[in-house]
Amino acid sequence: MRIRAQMAMVMNLDKCIGCHTCSVTCKQTWTNREGTEYVWFNNVETKPGIGYPKHYEDQERWKGGWKLDARGRLTLRSGGRGKRLSRLFANPDLPSIDDYYEPATFDKDILVNAPGGLTDTPVKQPYSTLTGKPMAITWGANWEDSLGGSSGQDDPNLARMTAKVKFEFEKTFMFHLPRICEHCLNPACVSACLSGAMYKREEDGIVLVDQDRCRGWRMCVSACPYKKVYVNHATGKAEKCTFCFPRLEAGLPTICSETCVGRLRYLGLLWYDEDAVLAAASVEDDADLLDAQRSVFLDPNDPAVRQAARDAGMPEDWIEAAAASPVWKLIAEYKIALPLHPEYRTLPMVWYVPPLSPVLDAAGAAGRDDSDADDIFHTIRDLRIPVEYLAELFTAGDTSAVAGVLMKLAAMRSYMRARTLDGTVAQELLDGVGMSAGQVEAMYRLLAVAKYADRYVIPAAHKRQAAELEALGAEHDTCPVSDGPHALEITPLPGRS
Ligand code: SF4
Ligand code: SF4
Repeated sequence: MRIRAQMAMVMNLDKCIGCHTCSVTCKQTWTNREGTEYVWFNNVETKPGIGYPKHYEDQERWKGGWKLDARGRLTLRSGGRGKRLSRLFANPDLPSIDDYYEPATFDKDILVNAPGGLTDTPVKQPYSTLTGKPMAITWGANWEDSLGGSSGQDDPNLARMTAKVKFEFEKTFMFHLPRICEHCLNPACVSACLSGAMYKREEDGIVLVDQDRCRGWRMCVSACPYKKVYVNHATGKAEKCTFCFPRLEAGLPTICSETCVGRLRYLGLLWYDEDAVLAAASVEDDADLLDAQRSVFLDPNDPAVRQAARDAGMPEDWIEAAAASPVWKLIAEYKIALPLHPEYRTLPMVWYVPPLSPVLDAAGAAGRDDSDADDIFHTIRDLRIPVEYLAELFTAGDTSAVAGVLMKLAAMRSYMRARTLDGTVAQELLDGVGMSAGQVEAMYRLLAVAKYADRYVIPAAHKRQAAELEALGAEHDTCPVSDGPHALEITPLPGRS
């Protein structure tokens, strides 16, 4: 067993109001400069919808992530090293600017300085920030939000669903899906990089791009199934979400978390066994990937695991932070957070509590009482919308896994309602989901009323480590040209195995 620490995030989708504050503050912090006008390290999509860039979830089209070859071995969808080398100068699997959107701006002076007394509102034609020419705005990073999800019928997640479900879905539900880089345990971007520029930080698992090493070959863009690596068109180099590592090293949450209006983001450490990653990513059946990924995580309250962490040189405050991690609780203790598209086999580390609100909407649309636990349970069991859709997003199509999580959330809602309004303990609800009253109440506190310090449990980097982390990118000298996970060997920090 090789114990590793991973900084990870969970988002509770029921609380996202789609305000895009996270996207704006991220952009102001990281991509508010020439070359990154079209880049959103954090974006918020309307689901169902085709997302940003368009249809990024269609891996038949973009060849992102991993698949099993005929002999059951994990292999990049974008091809082996030879294929990638042959495509250095003509890569057909790259999104174009039209797949993202052409960024535009306005000459705001004409609006700000318009004389008073005009009978018509002054207007000005937008112009492209890429070409400087006038343009018509026909798409944007959150276009579907403006359209209320009306391009959702082209959503790749609907491809495997029945005609009835597809026909009905638009009338039934929508929700928001905020996305950042997943800082995967088995990152396809790192393995696809031919120059050794992309690497997974040994200290906390954050995936970064060494700007000095990047040659602009863009294999990472094709290989990332979440399309969360971008090319800066001014420098020609790859850039991506940094998980705000300078803030994390100071013990502060990422800027998207800090400013999230819905307070739906949770940050914390997870421990995992690096030796178990390859086997977990290689299980045969897509539907087994959720349990396989959960199985690589190590219990931070287990004395043997804590001792292993100490033996590996983990500082004491990191050991305590792992034990208090809200991410560990939501993913492994309560088992209500799920990974986005586990079938891409990158073992993503930004997980989601799926939204119950589409189920409540569906219950209402079916004439059921959305405050009655039985009615909600029946809706989850009977109505294929939206459970099938959520299963396409979070459990590789396994509806029973996503229904199990929704049942827990519905039970918590009804249990707390009865307890608060009537002062009764609905034991049958607890029995139905196999949780104790203490667990449900702790889960409620974490999801509904958790304070800042409970949502973000972030140990600061130690001074010595911070300096070493900075030097880490310069230290690694192994080119990750093989296709296997963790092809890039990063020099361990002193005192680490
Ligand atoms: S989502 Fe995963 S594969 Fe994509 S850039 Fe992030 S770490 Fe790499
Ligand atoms: S700031 Fe929070 S609530 Fe607003 S869109 Fe982003 S994730 Fe959703």
